[in-house]
Amino acid sequence: MSPQEFNLEVVPILPTALKRLEELAKNLRYSWNISTRILFEQLDEELWIRVGHNPKLFLRNIDQKRLQKAATDESFLKSYRQVLSSFDAYCDAKERRNGGKKLAEDALIAYFCAEYGFHESLPVYSGGLGILAGDHCKTASDMRLPFVAVGLFYNQGYFNQQIDAQGHQISSYNVNNPQYLPISPALDDAGEEIYIDVKIAKTQVFAKAWKIQVGHIDLYLLDTNVAKNNDDDRAITHQLYGGNEHTRIKQEIVLGIGGVRLLRKLKLAPTIWHINEGHAAFMILERIRELTNNGQSFEAAIEAVSANTVFTTHTPVPAGHDHFPQELIMNYLGSFCEHDMKLSKEAFLALGCWVSDGEHSDFNMTTLAVQGSKHLNGVSRIHGKVSSEICQKFWPEITASENPMRYVTNGVHVPSMLPRQWSDLFDKSLGTEWPERQHDSTFWQGVEDIPDQEFWNVKQTIKSRMLKVICSSLTAQHYQTSETHLERMLKYINPNNPNILTIGFARRFATYKRATLLFKDMNRLRSILNNVKRPVVFIFAGKAHPADVPGQEMLKEIYRVSCEPEFMGKILLVQGYDLGLSRRLVSGVDVWLNNPVYPQEASGTSGMKAGINGGINLSVLDGWWPESYDGSNGWAIKQSPLHDEHQRDYDDASSLYEVLLDEVIPLYYERGEKDYSEGWVKKAKRSMATILPRFNTMRMLNDYINKLYLPASHKGKLLRRDNYAKAQELAHWRARMKTKWADVQVRLLSAPQVQQLSYGESINIQVAVRLNDLQPNDVTVELLLSRKIYHPEILVPTQQDLQNISHSDQTETVYYKFKPEHPLDDSGEYLYRLNFQPDLSGGLSYRIRVFPFHEMLSEPHGMGMMRWI
Ligand SMILES: *Cc1c(COP(=O)(O)O)cnc(C)c1O
Repeated sequence: MSPQEFNLEVVPILPTALKRLEELAKNLRYSWNISTRILFEQLDEELWIRVGHNPKLFLRNIDQKRLQKAATDESFLKSYRQVLSSFDAYCDAKERRNGGKKLAEDALIAYFCAEYGFHESLPVYSGGLGILAGDHCKTASDMRLPFVAVGLFYNQGYFNQQIDAQGHQISSYNVNNPQYLPISPALDDAGEEIYIDVKIAKTQVFAKAWKIQVGHIDLYLLDTNVAKNNDDDRAITHQLYGGNEHTRIKQEIVLGIGGVRLLRKLKLAPTIWHINEGHAAFMILERIRELTNNGQSFEAAIEAVSANTVFTTHTPVPAGHDHFPQELIMNYLGSFCEHDMKLSKEAFLALGCWVSDGEHSDFNMTTLAVQGSKHLNGVSRIHGKVSSEICQKFWPEITASENPMRYVTNGVHVPSMLPRQWSDLFDKSLGTEWPERQHDSTFWQGVEDIPDQEFWNVKQTIKSRMLKVICSSLTAQHYQTSETHLERMLKYINPNNPNILTIGFARRFATYKRATLLFKDMNRLRSILNNVKRPVVFIFAGKAHPADVPGQEMLKEIYRVSCEPEFMGKILLVQGYDLGLSRRLVSGVDVWLNNPVYPQEASGTSGMKAGINGGINLSVLDGWWPESYDGSNGWAIKQSPLHDEHQRDYDDASSLYEVLLDEVIPLYYERGEKDYSEGWVKKAKRSMATILPRFNTMRMLNDYINKLYLPASHKGKLLRRDNYAKAQELAHWRARMKTKWADVQVRLLSAPQVQQLSYGESINIQVAVRLNDLQPNDVTVELLLSRKIYHPEILVPTQQDLQNISHSDQTETVYYKFKPEHPLDDSGEYLYRLNFQPDLSGGLSYRIRVFPFHEMLSEPHGMGMMRWI
């Protein structure tokens, strides 16, 4: 019989000289300040890796003797003091930066998201959405914005991934022990832990609030795993995107409704509310409830709430939007809507079920978010367009290009993704002010002046370090494999020989991302990979959601190919993709491959991370890439125009092989006398110089402030004034519009007979509008004068023209407003007149329209009503 073992934890004590390591371990600034992480690593490199780069866990496990030794080690103490002084300088500088200065003194942005990705040591993220949210918070801290974030604390976070010897994904969950995470209970003024409660179906569910310090800002995570709850409810926040739709709806109730309650308990009064993806949209309900309980009408309440709410959608596929059957929503929120919101079932369901979707449509979180937010955006130019088309039904008479859906292209938090070697080089070559000038494109042209050799050396050093990490990962992953086999597998990723073209593909294995597109035509792939003079290695990594069977099949396929003798070592699949591995890959590889199905990649951010590190993108022109690609800073895989899935994939793969064979591989190996290719370095520099200043989150936050936060704050404030007087006025006006609009008509009374005039001459046009009891100022009558894109008879269309035809929103248009004159006696109509000199010349055309106008509308076409002549 083996003896019984008893657990015992002896907690190391920090020597006085190193006392503040604890502070550094508690503030997530370590997730973007690499010197802080290196400081921990210096204490015990092996332990640092074993604890998954988790500073708090590290300090719980470090050998006391090492601490004591470090406390007297002058060189360590020097780094310690440097890190602390930079930490203090960061924390002490409270003045708002760039766009932040424009926000009102009392402004507060409340940001809600279901997942947050800051660092591998806090596993409450699954992929791009979470990392974007994390980057948003980090940047809000960098810019000293008035900002608070809300999310959920998942006891088991997202799963860990292993890949077994058959290529199966094995998922396992670690329990997130708060003691070992950079979080602590949120406390009220009396020093008591903060709990909130929400009613879900018939039970009162409690959630404890955890607080996380992200530099200057606070993130609160709600956790239902508390003793006051029954077992079922304790499990609500068990896993990120885990459980079934019952779990999902409960999580979203805790996040949305509970989140608002938490902010109130904290005595915070946000002036701007940001819903990052539909999961958090229930916050709208709670905020409406607050106002109706204070005596406002439902209509005025929704005016006021939506006026300062920003909704960002991240999914270009309608089926990807969260939705719940009506019975389910009534089961869980029926009593909330009836008793708390005092809303009829019909009115409540109408918030999430759109009429044209049919009577029995599901309750859709995007519908709720769109109806409860007046400031809407997608996350890239293409995605903005796709989203405005998906959402067109909400503004049925408005063309998609004019409806209220805007876009703010995503970015990445540069310091989080940049190894020290680059920042040192930037300090030296561009000046230490580079972090402040992140979004200054002219400044970054300076990258071109860095000597090629120096640039290349840095890139190679970082690549070498990545190769080392990949080698040890693969060795651990294939621990059963023979030495010879392992040698074959690692042959092309030798850290001492980083001169082999290395192409990376790592992201969630959602099927639309087509991780296996490269294997579409094995013969062509063979011809690329079997050239001994120009070896190429592909490194794959990524998790498939445990419920996503096709995604797991893709993993298996990559694994299978990677085991075939002829591809051995040239196709590699690394398990356990997380932020740590992501940082390594995006900074280390030469080329970043991205081949989603157009237009399903809302933005994508991993390619931006590669770009800021001098990696070169090879990507389908989808998501963010068309906004960056200029022919010199990377490569485009031009997507197939075909809709047949198989043929489309085949065509896209063909284009991929062609670019690889004709451009990527030859350029990399065109080395001449030097140990690098000049053409390659030129492209890599262009990639960095063009991508870094535009696709960083500082630019992104400034866009959010200018396009969404400022208008939201302004409108919200107006509507709150005088006990919501304007909200009531707007609600009445909107109701009147809805009843009157159907019978509003417009017709042409008189227009010039001539179709030709000389520049400078005027035209006089009169229209009659049947106002149907509306006031003349309730509507805008407008003429749109557009340049014909090309004159069919004389001009040969350019390539640009032909492209513009399919994006007709890009034609040049000038708008002229008609003046209301007087009622027309007999017809019940009103006369509007326009006398104008065309500002354009050449072949033109004009159109005339009428639409509702109110100065308080956040968007000119937010009513979705329009009549054309
Ligand atoms: C950046 C990042 C992503 C996003 O990848 P996309 O290719 O943009 O989908 C996902 N997961 C991790 C860990 C990342 O770092």
